[in-house]
Amino acid sequence: MIDPTPTTDEQVWNTAFIGLGANLGEAHQTLLKAIETLGRHADIRHLQLSPFYSSAPVQSHGPDYVNAVARLETRLTPYALLDVLQALETRFGRERPYRNAPRTLDLDILLFNNLVQNDPVLTLPHPRMHERAFVLQPLKNLAPDMMLAQGSLNDLLTACAGQRITQMH
Ligand code: ATP
Ligand code: CA
Ligand code: CA
Repeated sequence: MIDPTPTTDEQVWNTAFIGLGANLGEAHQTLLKAIETLGRHADIRHLQLSPFYSSAPVQSHGPDYVNAVARLETRLTPYALLDVLQALETRFGRERPYRNAPRTLDLDILLFNNLVQNDPVLTLPHPRMHERAFVLQPLKNLAPDMMLAQGSLNDLLTACAGQRITQMH
């Protein structure tokens, strides 16, 4: 007889997009190591990485940033995933002397399934992602047809055309 209520492992896996950025130290290497660490986490699978981009600081200053976006599946809760990301930031020497300060590593949760919430500890979708070319461009590489509440990635990218961003090789 067929079990009418099969419980599969698939039910607990969520899809998240993570924004990665760094503009202090060996920024490119740091991002690669952070990705490698995330990819090895027992509760994370199917990690895909966008190309790397170099971008001028937005609402910030200091050296150019290295940015990328990762898509992953996780069975962590959104808050547990944030804890994992913040522990990684700390491990790579992240300091927060003031808002938007240059940083060795920044890991933001851009999207977690279709969750919408306004908790300041974890706002989803990330409240400023739609106005940042350094998020939208690598996100478009991973999910070209994605629509955000504010519009298509192409339309949002057009609106931030003044932000300098170039793909790295
Ligand atoms: P921004 O949020 O504008 O990109 P930032 O990344 O420099 O700025 P941080 O100092 O890294 O800001 O984070 C400040 C706080 O933002 C964190 O302590 C975290 O609790 C909170 N936060 C809220 N929503 C998110 C999110 N979606 N992803 C990561 N952190 C978030
Ligand atoms: Ca950020
Ligand atoms: Ca952050």
